[in-house]
Amino acid sequence: MTILELDAVHRVHGSGATAVHALRGVSVSVGQGELVAVMGPSGSGKSTLLNLAGGLDSPTQGTVTVDGTSLGECGRRALAALRRRRVGYVFQDLNLLASLTAAENVALPLELDGMPVRKARPLAEAALSEVDLDGLGQRFPDELSGGQQQRVAIARALIGERRLILADEPTGALDSQTGEAVLRLLRSKVDGGAAGVLVTHDARHAAWADRVVFLRDGVIVDTAGPLDQPDELLNVPGGARS
Ligand code: ADP
Ligand code: MG
Repeated sequence: MTILELDAVHRVHGSGATAVHALRGVSVSVGQGELVAVMGPSGSGKSTLLNLAGGLDSPTQGTVTVDGTSLGECGRRALAALRRRRVGYVFQDLNLLASLTAAENVALPLELDGMPVRKARPLAEAALSEVDLDGLGQRFPDELSGGQQQRVAIARALIGERRLILADEPTGALDSQTGEAVLRLLRSKVDGGAAGVLVTHDARHAAWADRVVFLRDGVIVDTAGPLDQPDELLNVPGGARS
């Protein structure tokens, strides 16, 4: 079953002489239980693709379908509800709310969706413990390290009944051990019935995916199956994943 489908998607940012053609006819589909990694140089359109997939931005041309709903045909309210309920998003810059505690940040999507606080909070605490942040729920983001903040953002993206998990370099601020834990979590959420898209620069992280899509100048230039020997394939220094 297909959960995410981009069909001949173009996205032009701006207009006239300064227009940037960030995506030029990208088609990709991600099924239930499937994790797709997106790799490519800086500026190749990876974040644009993820924003379109999450309904945070709309294509100039082409269609995006999430869980059977064509985003271009759904109204603002329906789109907001779909984003809140069905899509989990880990942003490159985390987007944690500074005035909310870690647990409140994680519970936010559930509460926005109408779940009472007394129900949402224990779920948030459980999600925090899944990312090894037991007991830190009452801290504010600025009382946590970069890596801990990143894990709060991940807990928030995975909480609830998400069908589609979108992660834009979610392991950026993490040491390799924590990064690996985050990928294992993402993998298990996907194995549990979601679909996932992971933007990463790291071939060892892409090795967790079922499929790797390479973007260059807004075009998919290559797709590969699972990377069994990423270090060899992409000549990444640092040795094999252990
Ligand atoms: P990546 O995530 O692969 O680094 P992006 O999707 O962020 O790439 O950007 C693709 C291209 O689109 C780049 O040239 C970038 O400068 C441009 N771009 C992205 N967002 C905007 C925007 N909001 N306005 C104008 N140009 C943008
Ligand atoms: Mg980016």
